[in-house]
Amino acid sequence: MLTLENIIEELQNYDGKPIKIMEVCGTHTASIFKNGIRSLISDKIKLISGPGCPVCVTTPSYIDRLAEISLMPDCCVLTFGDMMKVKGSEMSLTEAKAAGGDVRILYSPLMSIKIAQENPNKEFVFAAVGFETTAPIYAILMEEIEKNSIKNLRLLTSLKTIVPALSFVCEAEKNIDAFLCPGHVSVIIGADAYIELAERYRKPFVVAGFEGEHILSAVYEIVLQLEAGEHKMKNMYKNAVSEKGNLIAMEKVNKYFTCADDTWRGIGVIENSALRLRPEFIEYDAGSDIGLEDSGIQMPKGCSCADVILGRINPVECPLFGKTCTPLNAVGPCMVSSEGACGIWYKNRRM
Ligand code: SF4
Repeated sequence: MLTLENIIEELQNYDGKPIKIMEVCGTHTASIFKNGIRSLISDKIKLISGPGCPVCVTTPSYIDRLAEISLMPDCCVLTFGDMMKVKGSEMSLTEAKAAGGDVRILYSPLMSIKIAQENPNKEFVFAAVGFETTAPIYAILMEEIEKNSIKNLRLLTSLKTIVPALSFVCEAEKNIDAFLCPGHVSVIIGADAYIELAERYRKPFVVAGFEGEHILSAVYEIVLQLEAGEHKMKNMYKNAVSEKGNLIAMEKVNKYFTCADDTWRGIGVIENSALRLRPEFIEYDAGSDIGLEDSGIQMPKGCSCADVILGRINPVECPLFGKTCTPLNAVGPCMVSSEGACGIWYKNRRM
């Protein structure tokens, strides 16, 4: 068995064909910086970010709908802070609030229960954004809404699922050789969710933890698989990720949500990539079926977020990076969110 030093030495000395590996989630991107992973591996192994930031792929129409609701009389939008600065086609939620809209930041969706109970004459809409990682908490929120017979709290959902997105990336970006699967999402959906992708696209899909040694070991596993002409799903994060995932959480999610087509900002429509409230719970939906006419592909002028999300470029290759686009004055969503690749690259570039 190789030690970490052996693995680093192997990766530093790698001199085979160039390899492009997509790390799908922002937590891996941040850890790659924190641990100086790029400095420990050969230049022939390129690490690029993927579409795993839910805020970054939320469409302008969705933000527009939230802003519109916040400005309606006796209505209030409840949201996580990450969503505040993302631009819609006209304004962000920060700007809607400045224009008189009622927008409140919460740290947990469950806080909205008490707020709705204490303000019976107001209509509340929770901005339910996320991947499979956060979907269970929205299912629990739905349980609480039902249990407490709350009638003035609904969800506007932009919940996305990662496997259809990875399938889209594999179809669209043939030069990506392998994937570091998102750790947190994998805890919920399980490692087996990637087996079919690995077989269909003949690429390694490796589930890894977030420590530097986890990422290095996963990159080494990918190099070994590619050198051997293999394409397997490998779960290297068994402490947290089981083969089948968190079945209790998925059961709760499936009770309230069902799959639907959805638009991803910067990507377009991906079939069966959304979780929407089931028809029997539609009274709790605040109009999430915004329609697919908004292709979501339009980005602010000069913004290369679509290329960043699809792994075509690294954030520093965007001409606006660190010039007109910074976290304080973000042009695109990838600079706004704590999980966005541009924001992570910017913060770490300044360290
Ligand atoms: Fe978009 Fe800004 Fe990133 Fe460029 S630097 S891709 S404008 S978020």
